[in-house]
Amino acid sequence: MTCSAKHRVMPLLSTIIVGGGPGGLGPLIWAAQQGLLPTWLNRGVAIVERQAHLGGTLGRFGIHSDSLGGSYLECLEAPHLPATLACLRDDPVTHEMAGYRQSFPPLALVDRFMRRIGSALGAMFTGPSSLYLRTTAQAVRLHPDGSVTVTATCPEGSSFVLSARSAILAMGGRQHCPQLPVPPERHVIPSDQLLTVEGLCDANKLMAVAGSRRILILGGSHSAYAAAGALLELPAAQHLAPGQIAIVQRREPRIFYPDQDAARHDGYDVAPGDICPRTQRVNRMGGLRGYGRETWRQITDRPGLQPETRVVRMALQDLSATELHTAIDAAALVVPCFGYRSVTLPVFDSNGERFELNADKGGIAVGDDCCLLTADQRKLPNLFGIGLGTGYRLPASMGGEPNFDGQANSLWLYQNDIGATIYRAIDELSPALPSETPPDVLGELDRAQGTRVAVLASPNTGF
Ligand SMILES: Cc1cc2nc3c(=O)[nH]c(=O)nc-3n(C[C@H](O)[C@H](O)[C@H](O)COP(=O)(O)OP(=O)(O)OC[C@H]3O[C@@H](n4cnc5c(N)ncnc54)[C@H](O)[C@@H]3O)c2cc1C
Repeated sequence: MTCSAKHRVMPLLSTIIVGGGPGGLGPLIWAAQQGLLPTWLNRGVAIVERQAHLGGTLGRFGIHSDSLGGSYLECLEAPHLPATLACLRDDPVTHEMAGYRQSFPPLALVDRFMRRIGSALGAMFTGPSSLYLRTTAQAVRLHPDGSVTVTATCPEGSSFVLSARSAILAMGGRQHCPQLPVPPERHVIPSDQLLTVEGLCDANKLMAVAGSRRILILGGSHSAYAAAGALLELPAAQHLAPGQIAIVQRREPRIFYPDQDAARHDGYDVAPGDICPRTQRVNRMGGLRGYGRETWRQITDRPGLQPETRVVRMALQDLSATELHTAIDAAALVVPCFGYRSVTLPVFDSNGERFELNADKGGIAVGDDCCLLTADQRKLPNLFGIGLGTGYRLPASMGGEPNFDGQANSLWLYQNDIGATIYRAIDELSPALPSETPPDVLGELDRAQGTRVAVLASPNTGF
């Protein structure tokens, strides 16, 4: 939609989605799979997206996905899918993804796939629903009548306001990076930057002149093991000595296994709390997957693999502050991998008072119903958050291992349980239009499963 079209009086929409990446598209994709999307779009949905396309930002990374290709394809397999999306089953990008059904596609392909889904979804935004591409949301305001307004800016600089009954904030994550005791320009590349094509080039140059100096990876998360794996693949890594890459971690990462037998065969000790009661998978939500997991397996000398001696692991607790500072200062390259926090917008009440958001003071962004939390733990009932860094903690009804205490960042979850949670809450906020004969899909699901969670687990993709 062009900006000049926006200056007319806008009708009250059902929902404004800020950010058209995998998070923002998640509830739409869930609704599409259940046959509910046309009804939602008839009520009016707007997507405000800063980029010129929908689909998000995963394409900037030069590494492979840690989810199987099959988990991305699953959303196209639903029988209720609208024709615009169903025809993507025959799209060349889908065929390319199908080649990775049981393996880990490059994130560049995941990005192309998500953009393709984004453009097909975008084609359905007609009538009361609109796309605002190359448009940046600036602020949100909550009104006493329960409506939400989002102020946004067009590329040429003019601003406009959208009103709706609900809004979803899905602007992605920003890497959390505390101050390090070295000048950052010297040799610090946070994992978010390192894992891009340019970041890996820079790291290769630094490693090539490292001599005997160490490469320090700070953190023991997915990103840390993905970073270790990506560094080991670089040409300059061939010359690294044993132990020259060090991962400094607070605790051992947990590892995903499809079942306890697979873990046992790999020599992995499974604690009872590692098992998802619903699927029997080991560390289903929090376990390392994909190439990061394989890197961990090589470093820890698992059966059938060539042991990887260039990487050592150190427990943070075993290092004094001085030892840590000295190690950071002496390193050829330092890669902080401290996880992600949600990108937020200023949110105001109708008097112009700004809410202090929990995410802005470093806490989780949302509660278990995906509503945004204020710093004093109040829920903003018609403002939802989804996507990287929101810190969503899965309720027990969604499964997952009891030991999981981290963030659920996964496209599959955005398009399934988390997307469902948001859709259902929004549906309750939107009165049916007089012309609507709403399909009773939600009722059918509830009756069939006796639960408000529609999707239990993916049968063949590990989730
Ligand atoms: C290195 C890495 C690898 C990952 N690998 C996987 C994986 O293999 N499998 C998996 O399931 N998950 C993976 N994730 C986790 C997560 O699923 C992805 O990060 C995913 O891209 C998150 O989607 P998102 O929509 O939250 O963020 P993004 O993809 O960043 O999308 C956010 C969108 O919001 C837009 N935006 C931001 N601010 C504004 C604004 N003010 N106004 C309008 N638009 C705005 C941006 O332009 C962008 O398009 C990975 C994460 C990282 C960091």
